[in-house]
Amino acid sequence: MHMQCRFRRSPYLIAVAALLCAALMPAPQLLWADSAEPDTKVVLTDAEQAFLRQHPRILLGSDETWEPYVIAAADGSIRGYDADILERVNALTGANFELVLGCWSDMLAAARERRIDGLSSSVVHEERRDFLNFSSPYISLRKMLLVASGNPANIRSARDLAGKTLAVQRGNLADEKLARGVAGAELILLDDVADAILAVDRGEADATFGNSATLLAASRIGLPTLEVATNLGETLDEVFSVRNDWPEALSILNKGLAAIPPQERVAIHRRWFFNWGGDPKQLVALNPEERSHLLDQQPLRLCVDPQWMPYEHLDDDGHYRGMIADIHHALAKRLDIRLEILPTATWAESLQAAREGRCDLLSAAVETPERLSFLSFTPAFLDVPLVVATGQEQPFIDSILDASDKTFAVIRHHALEEIFRRRYPGIQLIEVENPRTGLEAVREGRVFGFIDTSVTIGYAMRKYQFTDVKIAGKLEERYALTVGVRGDDPLLLSIYSKAVESLSAQEVDQAVSRWTSVETVKELDRPLLFKIVGALGVIGLLLFYRDRLMSGYNRRLQEANRQLEVLSTTDQLTGVANRHKFVDIMTQEIVRAERYKSALSLIIADVDHFKTVNDNLGHDAGDRVLIAFAQLFVNKSRSCDLVVRWGGEEFLLLCPQTDLESATQLAELLRQRVAESDLGIGRPITASFGVAQYRASEDINNLITRADSALYRAKAQGRDRVCTA
Ligand code: GH3
Ligand code: MG
Ligand code: MG
Repeated sequence: MHMQCRFRRSPYLIAVAALLCAALMPAPQLLWADSAEPDTKVVLTDAEQAFLRQHPRILLGSDETWEPYVIAAADGSIRGYDADILERVNALTGANFELVLGCWSDMLAAARERRIDGLSSSVVHEERRDFLNFSSPYISLRKMLLVASGNPANIRSARDLAGKTLAVQRGNLADEKLARGVAGAELILLDDVADAILAVDRGEADATFGNSATLLAASRIGLPTLEVATNLGETLDEVFSVRNDWPEALSILNKGLAAIPPQERVAIHRRWFFNWGGDPKQLVALNPEERSHLLDQQPLRLCVDPQWMPYEHLDDDGHYRGMIADIHHALAKRLDIRLEILPTATWAESLQAAREGRCDLLSAAVETPERLSFLSFTPAFLDVPLVVATGQEQPFIDSILDASDKTFAVIRHHALEEIFRRRYPGIQLIEVENPRTGLEAVREGRVFGFIDTSVTIGYAMRKYQFTDVKIAGKLEERYALTVGVRGDDPLLLSIYSKAVESLSAQEVDQAVSRWTSVETVKELDRPLLFKIVGALGVIGLLLFYRDRLMSGYNRRLQEANRQLEVLSTTDQLTGVANRHKFVDIMTQEIVRAERYKSALSLIIADVDHFKTVNDNLGHDAGDRVLIAFAQLFVNKSRSCDLVVRWGGEEFLLLCPQTDLESATQLAELLRQRVAESDLGIGRPITASFGVAQYRASEDINNLITRADSALYRAKAQGRDRVCTA
């Protein structure tokens, strides 16, 4: 059971709890202050090495509700403090300690019966020595007595517990013993930590034992109302327990624990016990090499455009703000790192700093050939349209080529400069430092137009009252904004690419709408509209008609772009991506697969005898099947996979970084799930699958055709099966 599913979380309460607990929580006592040198690989004895060969996996059970020691992440992996510690032990020793989760009492029984090999997040109990050995402690937390908010029973010490009720987690021997030692207290045994917290909150119990992890659990279920009545005079040392007929497993574990550098242990502790604001499930999964690289590099130096609102800027106090700032804060949170902004006065200065290696990251950079000499680029996190602003009196322009004899201003060293010089060498460009100076150049007639994003131009027009300029046209080019990473640091690129990919569309949308509120658009449009309507009286009716069409252009750019994008990329019935979206994403994925030499696979699925569903149960039942089918794909695929309705009852699943074998396994899993489910129609239904892996330089159609022929074979061979190309 996952505690956080049962209650609505309150961000406000969590924040309060975070503050409260940060203030109250005793500093963790970190152990092994003088252990081995960093990166020292552990030396194993022959017996230990032989043991590892014979025991490729060592399973340690843990309580599934014991966050943040263990957290069952949405992608099926197990994360948390224990997982990180064991990962380090595994890396240092070559062992493979794995976590399994379940109800704590089941885990105990499984360990006793040797169905698993030991326990994680456990404590030393003499009575368990008949089947377990104990490792050295890997974390030590101060034990506290927790009571409801306001301490209604006025409990100031353990002695005040006489005649009171104490909630204790069943099977938590340490707490049970402690509780039984309290004279006159009545015990209520409950199944998990959340129940104990709830019992105290509801007044069914007067107190419970806990530590910082308990407070964290309380905040995560939206009840951060527990108070620390007192610190009990003891600490809780958590150890790993290992079956006692495996002494080698214990010695390997202890060697690994001792070899984790102190700096890393501090970072792991901080990551899981102090990361209150974020959802630990969202932390980006990094490999040990990436993680230690991040630790070495911190704080990362970030260069930004100091004057590109509402995307980003440095305000008067030097604070980094704007849409992209929000995105970078989200990324840093997911990576659990600190960023340091390298202040500059202009974008050109920031780019120069990046070129000279003075910053590790460029906040928002478009990939250009010239920049590849000193930067590498993550996948894009935002794709923004570019527009031209001209004087009010100028005609609207359909294509930049119509104005190829004119001079335009662009921001110095923005990607556009390079793109334009390459693509439209005839067009004259002058450089300006920011949108404001760009619009001034237009107003003063020094240039015909200023080119930048619709959002930045709109913002500057409103903020600096440029009522005599207008947005006169949209460019075909767009800015695909990525994080620029210093070119000599491939690990950092991989780390940031993962982080960018972990951002949800919703998060990005939130950042965008926060900084381009309706107000912005309204305020922006009104003066524009007045200007245009004013001019029209003079110019005449014909032009009125034409210009009225155009005057809504800016608003359309802002709103329609966003809405149309959603509508035009989503299948109306099932809500998954449609063909357009697929082609878009597929094109990007092919570029990435080519560039990083990564695998990319495509699964095509078709519901078997779907026509008979329609014929026998009606079209509505058919629709329901399609919706359930799409949902099953969405649920069973990874967040980086793209589910597409290809047409009718055919669906595609695009799987980046997946080879043919893994994609076939996934298809087989999906096939089984479809066959097991009735997709809501109360009778069996199946589907057939074709799988193909992208081949270097292959075009999209060819890949689809190969997957399709595999599907055709699956149908021909009797349906309800997976065939590969
Ligand atoms: P096979 O096992 O060979 O794939 O047989 P099938 O009956 O599934 O394939 P066929 O291509 O003959 O039939 C597909 C049917 O799907 C025909 C069409 O009417 C129906 N269909 C297409 N789009 C929709 C839709 O949006 N809703 C519903 N209910 N039916 C649809
Ligand atoms: Mg079919
Ligand atoms: Mg079909």
